[in-house]
Amino acid sequence: MESTVAQKLDAIYNLQLIDSRLDSILKVRGALPEEVQDLEDEIAGYETRLEKFQNDIASFEEDIKRFKENIKESEKLIKKYQEQQMNVRNNREYDAITKELELQDLEIQVSKKKIAEAGVKIDQKKADLEELENVMKDRQKDLDVKKNELDTIVAESEAEESKLMADREKAGKKIEERLIKSYTKIRANAKNGLAVVMVKRGACGGCFNTVPPQRQADIREKKKLIVCEHCGRILAGVEDEVEDETTKTKKRTSKA
Ligand SMILES: [Zn+2]
Repeated sequence: MESTVAQKLDAIYNLQLIDSRLDSILKVRGALPEEVQDLEDEIAGYETRLEKFQNDIASFEEDIKRFKENIKESEKLIKKYQEQQMNVRNNREYDAITKELELQDLEIQVSKKKIAEAGVKIDQKKADLEELENVMKDRQKDLDVKKNELDTIVAESEAEESKLMADREKAGKKIEERLIKSYTKIRANAKNGLAVVMVKRGACGGCFNTVPPQRQADIREKKKLIVCEHCGRILAGVEDEVEDETTKTKKRTSKA
């Protein structure tokens, strides 16, 4: 069944009310969701760096192991050469073995130097690691606090939010796709998230520019879809001053 303009306006205004309520729920959360996300990303970045440090340390330790094996190998050779040197037949053989011994001695010295260097690098990496772990601990604490805060706020509005989401889906089904599309577009461009507004005290409820009396009369009739000529928002109706007073009284009563 084709709905009348009045029905369309009521339906889209209803959707706006739901969305505005959802907006205010999200507003209460403020920057918290983003801050939590940022901290999670930051910590994930630190974890990657931490892993790299640990890999670096492991690889330096591997190096040290290798150099130590080289030293053992050289020591074995030295022992062997020294035995051979006892049984040489001439000076030429003796000199050749002496050269080999010197070479192995040099090999040992180089390995020892590299072991010491790797040791220094390991110490540096371990210091970096410790510093990083401290930063991570701090960030994790920040994250825990913010996440807790967010969880509390989310829990407070969770039931209302899911009800609103269900209402929203139901409300959306009653509105033709074309109208939803322009509603979404106007809403995306509006700072306050308002795409459908009432005329209040003779002005557009979105941009507060005056709506001429004749236009107000047309809006009141609800015979066609009228948008604000200043901001392009859909004008769903005209709120009467009297109605305003009742709302005020209601507010006052409920506060008291
Ligand atoms: Zn306007």
